[in-house]
Amino acid sequence: MIQQLSQSMAMRKSNLVNLPHLSEERTFLFLIRRAFLAAVKCIKQWKYPVKILEQYQICILSIKWTQTMRKKCLAGALDALVELKAEGKIRYTGIATHYYDILLRGARDERVDVLQGSGNLLERGMLDRIREEALFQKKGFLVNKVYAAGLLPAKFPIHTLIGFVLSYPVSSALIGFGTKEQIDAAMAWDTQIYKPEIPSLEQVLSVLEQEYSPIPCDRCQRCICPFGTEIHTLFRQYQYFHLGKDYWALKKLALGIAKSAAHCRECVQMPCMSACRQKIRIAQKIQEVERLVQEHLAAVRKKGY
Ligand code: SF4
Ligand code: SF4
Repeated sequence: MIQQLSQSMAMRKSNLVNLPHLSEERTFLFLIRRAFLAAVKCIKQWKYPVKILEQYQICILSIKWTQTMRKKCLAGALDALVELKAEGKIRYTGIATHYYDILLRGARDERVDVLQGSGNLLERGMLDRIREEALFQKKGFLVNKVYAAGLLPAKFPIHTLIGFVLSYPVSSALIGFGTKEQIDAAMAWDTQIYKPEIPSLEQVLSVLEQEYSPIPCDRCQRCICPFGTEIHTLFRQYQYFHLGKDYWALKKLALGIAKSAAHCRECVQMPCMSACRQKIRIAQKIQEVERLVQEHLAAVRKKGY
């Protein structure tokens, strides 16, 4: 339930203008995942974390907040974190999520000190929105998924990947390491001296085009589907399918793509498309993704998996 997120590395910017309290210390983050109410109870009774707390000096306790969690749950969990903070058991309260609207709500909530969201060279839309919204500048901000589940270092230098996220107003970048080479390269890099060139989204897409036809979605999350299709997640799974996580992506896509594609065939207003700054023909792309899933599922079944 309680998971240590990152003790290996939190890559820091020198100009931590927005989060001075995170600047000079080793930071241990804990994330509360599912079983939300049970987690709140555990926090209140301080059953689980007390040993970990003594051992690691927890700095931030973060709630992983998903779209399905009800406001009531969040309020309860935040109250619990606030109590712990008042008791001096943690120093900061945080919310971790992949959703922009939840981050924005967190940014508006004065009880929240630190937010954690995701972003990388390809999926930069949420970081762009955070940079434009002044409310985020009052909070600490941690960014994860810098390597896109370990997929992007095969296509781009890690200095470009890390340098990219540090070019945004973030406090720290949380890096998940896949290989020793990645650790060595990241640790040896002085972010003060070497500033990598940041490729535009178009340049990133042109690299990916050498292998497949990427959907130019930056996961800005502006598109809202009244039928509940999470368009940015669906497109992410499409990209990850082609970038090397094919089995994982296929399994995820197979769960809902037929229903989403059927909705698109019936949809008249198509509000998602007018919201998309990338001008993606979303309904059409979803049909293409459905065909891709059908083809590959058929191949997988033929092989008897
Ligand atoms: S076109 Fe498809 S994804 Fe877009 S709003 Fe309609 S049903 Fe949702
Ligand atoms: S489809 Fe368009 S609006 Fe939706 S997340 Fe992607 S880029 Fe943003």
